[in-house]
Amino acid sequence: DPVLKLAGVAKGYNLGTPGEVQVLRGVDLSIAPGETVALVAPSGAGKSTLLHISGLLDTPDAGTVAIGGQDMTGRGDRARTGVRRRDVGFIYQFHHLLPEFTAAENVILPQLADGAGRRQATARAAELLDRVGLSARADHRPAALSGGEQQRVAFCRALANRPRLLLADEPTGNLDPYTSDRVFDVLMALVAETGLAALIATHNLELAARMDRVLRLENGTVAAQ
Ligand code: ADP
Ligand code: ADP
Repeated sequence: DPVLKLAGVAKGYNLGTPGEVQVLRGVDLSIAPGETVALVAPSGAGKSTLLHISGLLDTPDAGTVAIGGQDMTGRGDRARTGVRRRDVGFIYQFHHLLPEFTAAENVILPQLADGAGRRQATARAAELLDRVGLSARADHRPAALSGGEQQRVAFCRALANRPRLLLADEPTGNLDPYTSDRVFDVLMALVAETGLAALIATHNLELAARMDRVLRLENGTVAAQ
């Protein structure tokens, strides 16, 4: 089964007058296990909308969304939240780490929310932070970390529950070009090691070219670049 499969996904926003904005008009997309896919799109093309629908944070007006072969169309909030917590990891342009918690705690908390034991979650956090070179920073709060370090913690958090699908929206867009390249290297190494599938939106065509496939979102549909 594909990790993510979208078929005929349409989405519009009703803004009242002057009316509806049709953002997605029949998006078909299938991502195999272990596959990395870049999504490039002009700003406003609907890439956040597409990522939110793919991660079950939003529902399409028409079409189907399946995760791991499980059709989520018409499923209730509980089922959607369960699949999202277990199977999907999110990374954003800004890290959204909890400021009052340490780096390690930020990686531990989603595991506890998913039912993991504290000891196991703590070990998993230590292993992930070590993997991205942040062992020495585990007990620091986000404010004490650089932008690149904060984003690496966010990667660890996204992967903490061993998702099968990673959805990333401009994961290095907030970093300077040098740091962006280094942090992206870490992300791609993590993705390769864990064998998860990834859909990564980026404006950076050099970074996009390092993925298995590049898709372009334009005029409401997705096509190979
Ligand atoms: P991108 O991430 O590619 O910049 P978005 O998916 O954020 O694009 O938005 C696509 C279009 O949909 C934009 O025109 C945006 O203004 C509109 N849009 C997004 N979310 C909403 C919403 N909740 N209500 C109304 N319009 C929205
Ligand atoms: P929890 O209640 O344990 O935080 P959720 O089901 O609310 O779990 O969230 C699961 C994942 O979806 C988390 O990674 C969270 O960051 C992300 N998420 C939840 N709501 C939103 C949202 N409105 N926008 C973006 N990401 C969200």
